[in-house]
Amino acid sequence: MKYYILFGPPGAGKGTQAGAVSEKYNLKHISTGDLLRAEIAAGTELGKKAKDIMAAGNLVPDRVVEDMIEKVFDDNKDVAGFLLDGFPRTLGQAGDLDEMLSRRGEKVNAVISIMISDDTIQSRLMHRASIEGRADDANPETIKNRIVTYHKQTKPLIDYYRKDGKYYEVDGENGDISDVRKRMFSVFKGVDTKFAGREVVIDEALLDRVQKLAHEPPRLRMNYDLRNTEEDQSQRMLNVMLPGTRTAIHKHNMSSETIMLLRGKMDTVLYNDDGSEKERIHMGGDSGVIGVNIPTGQWHTFEVYELAIIFMAQDGPWSPLSKENMLKASY
Ligand code: AMP
Repeated sequence: MKYYILFGPPGAGKGTQAGAVSEKYNLKHISTGDLLRAEIAAGTELGKKAKDIMAAGNLVPDRVVEDMIEKVFDDNKDVAGFLLDGFPRTLGQAGDLDEMLSRRGEKVNAVISIMISDDTIQSRLMHRASIEGRADDANPETIKNRIVTYHKQTKPLIDYYRKDGKYYEVDGENGDISDVRKRMFSVFKGVDTKFAGREVVIDEALLDRVQKLAHEPPRLRMNYDLRNTEEDQSQRMLNVMLPGTRTAIHKHNMSSETIMLLRGKMDTVLYNDDGSEKERIHMGGDSGVIGVNIPTGQWHTFEVYELAIIFMAQDGPWSPLSKENMLKASY
């Protein structure tokens, strides 16, 4: 299970962006603000207690939101993960969340923060009040208090998660909603695929998930980094390739390359220096071939006929292919 935190001041656009992100990554979106507003609308005891606190722009007690969050975790076992929006909002809540997750054998995977200035907070909340009629958006005093609360109680969380290397920031100020969404997707994609080796288990579910990420044209392929940190001086990755993906005929001068086919069917094609085909190795299907060892300096490419997932290993860190190492144009 993945646990992502959508972070940022009120009015940053967390709620607006959460829908698209949770749909794309099959996450359950949990907005503590929405849950509390639902309690108020239903006239529950909890709602009655929260109403005045929220109207003043203060935070409701930690215990209240934490119980609500835990219940949503318990009630949603069939999602890929959760997207927390509006929680945690204090260092206390962040510590409690870590504890709650460690009881479940889980951890926070990443914190994605949408950043806007205080002036933008103010103008966005006033504007939202005119559309949604939220009581805590309309009153300038309440807005001021929410900004103060954010700076005092919520912003310190940035350092808390940054220390853990889990903090990512997205510009929420410039461009329109779709520009911010594009930035969010690109961060999520990186978070989801970088140093994935921390996940330990490579199973069919992981292959399914990576497979989903490969569908975006024009590349139609996707690398999933299996290293643990940037310090790992090797290349070990899953590579998902869809039919139609084009890889340049290329070579690696510093290392041989081992690929093992985990799913699908493909050809590894070796070339001579003059560009003529030297050998075509069918992999998968009834070929009986499950892997190839490509020697250092050997021109090669891959041709994919049905979705293929390979494990690829090479010595030395990844670097873009130079012109001299490409025999035919890259796609
Ligand atoms: P939001 O919709 O996230 O802006 O939340 C609206 C209001 O709900 C906040 O101003 C708080 O009064 C309350 N609230 C939402 N989430 C939390 C939380 N994690 N801890 C305490 N109070 C919260």
